[in-house]
Amino acid sequence: MSFADLGLSDELLKTVTDAGYTEPTPIQASAIPSVLMMRDIIGIAQTGTGKTASFVLPMIDILAHGRSRARMPRSLILEPTRELAAQVAENFEKYGANHKLSMALLIGGVSMGDQVKALEKGVDVLIATPGRLMDLFQRGNILLTGCSMLVIDEADRMLDMGFIPDIEEICTKLPKQRQTLLFSATMPPPIKKLADKFLENPKTIEVARPASTNINIAQFVVPVAAQSFEKRKRLRQLLKQDEVRTAIIFCNRKTTVRELNKSLKQHGFRSGEIHGDMEQPQRLAELDLFKRGEINILVASDVAARGLDIKGVSHVFNFDAPWHPDDYVHRIGRTGRGGATGVAYTFVAPDDAENLDNIEKLTGQKIDRLELPAVVEEERPGRRRRERAPREETVEMAAPADAEVEAQPARAPRPRRDEPRFEAPRDEPRGGDRRRDRRRPNAGEAPDDGGWNGPIPDFLKVTLTV
Ligand code: AMP
Repeated sequence: MSFADLGLSDELLKTVTDAGYTEPTPIQASAIPSVLMMRDIIGIAQTGTGKTASFVLPMIDILAHGRSRARMPRSLILEPTRELAAQVAENFEKYGANHKLSMALLIGGVSMGDQVKALEKGVDVLIATPGRLMDLFQRGNILLTGCSMLVIDEADRMLDMGFIPDIEEICTKLPKQRQTLLFSATMPPPIKKLADKFLENPKTIEVARPASTNINIAQFVVPVAAQSFEKRKRLRQLLKQDEVRTAIIFCNRKTTVRELNKSLKQHGFRSGEIHGDMEQPQRLAELDLFKRGEINILVASDVAARGLDIKGVSHVFNFDAPWHPDDYVHRIGRTGRGGATGVAYTFVAPDDAENLDNIEKLTGQKIDRLELPAVVEEERPGRRRRERAPREETVEMAAPADAEVEAQPARAPRPRRDEPRFEAPRDEPRGGDRRRDRRRPNAGEAPDDGGWNGPIPDFLKVTLTV
């Protein structure tokens, strides 16, 4: 099937060709004609499958006719995090280049005043995180009665972050006569319930998990000792021997991200970091350095990197084996994109056996073990003692306040008393995050949706005419 068979306008076909796409991905081939026919859709698909274009492209054609009115957006896209919202905005900018649609991005941390002004002018596409949208709604700055198209993206992630009550409330504010598209990587019962309640006769489209079927990713388990300095040595060895062009290195905790990045830099690597304690502009600046090739290694936490579309990543390293098998699929999906080949190394310490087992069960494949000789590394003068200092061990065993997963494994280390608590940002899910509260030892911790203060990069300006 070609893009020309999907029913998109000539302008969009040109945009797609300009983007370098030769054929639609499976989710695009199935979803685009149905969206254009105004059907509700349940898309069971992950990032990396081309799902964003599967709703953005037909939305542009549908919205091309008609005009926006003050405070009454014509369509609404809900995203769980600011990064994903920003990424969808980028997609609108790219695919909507030949159209004149106005767009607003409502995300926490950006001045309310600017967002209100944008809404006053009227927007065709509103992209929002649920918390900030509810805030503005309750202040009377926004009316959803003119919103005839709703996209709920990454619904399972919304569930993890406790946003489902907000989404239910938002759905009731939209007109009953509307088109609803729901995308989720998995369909746990609460998402199924949500879909049953708010979608009309939806067409369900399921596409294969890219990572579990992506034969372009060579996956290896690297047995390692539990000590972080040993893991870092092994990492340096692989980074040097494997002609790593670009790598994302995932850690389970923010502290590990910081420490590892610092250590890599000290060893002369061009690395950067991205985690939930960083201000948004900082995170975007690091990403930009990575995208521009000024750094070629990005040390990341799951939440900060989730769903981010970074092209041409040759290697993914799981410096820590992920606690949740789903995270493994997400992490290694950062490489081997668009037909390119990639390599994914997962460090597995003796304590990680169960995590590895879960990963292999989920992906249905046994991952090759890589038995490597002991690392012989030239120590930098004066560094040896520091490398082995006990402080390093303490860092590795950081408190759960620093962990970036919603659920803590049963054997998670206990909180250190002196660990600073994460301050709840303003677009924290309202009404408390019951699910998180139940599962986490330190219930007040917010999802990784940290504050945004400071200048907004160009592509994130509150209103963009695309
Ligand atoms: P997504 O799943 O929406 O995060 O998209 C993943 C990546 O696939 C993005 O970099 C898109 O630009 C790219 N992409 C989307 N559609 C196509 C296509 N038909 N052909 C090639 N790449 C695509």
